[in-house]
Amino acid sequence: MKTQQLFDSLLNWFRPGEKTHVFYVEKRMKFGKYHVLHRENCEVLPDVNGRLEVGRGSNMELILTQAKKHYQHVELCPQCCKIEKPESNA
Ligand SMILES: [Zn+2]
Repeated sequence: MKTQQLFDSLLNWFRPGEKTHVFYVEKRMKFGKYHVLHRENCEVLPDVNGRLEVGRGSNMELILTQAKKHYQHVELCPQCCKIEKPESNA
């Protein structure tokens, strides 16, 4: 099972053009208002006890939806979860 998981993540890492991340939501509320969603490589990611794995993938909106099943108010971490939008000049 573990070997398979490792293999999957390796495949994901090397798949071109598609960045797969593990996402975590902080268990502790920020400012008593919301929970922050992080990627696995975030500098301010809490340790294992302070976070909850939400899922993995490259679709931020999907991950956010999943995170909201755990907590009502979830905000993206400004350090690691900037949504990559296609460039548009409105
Ligand atoms: Zn973060």
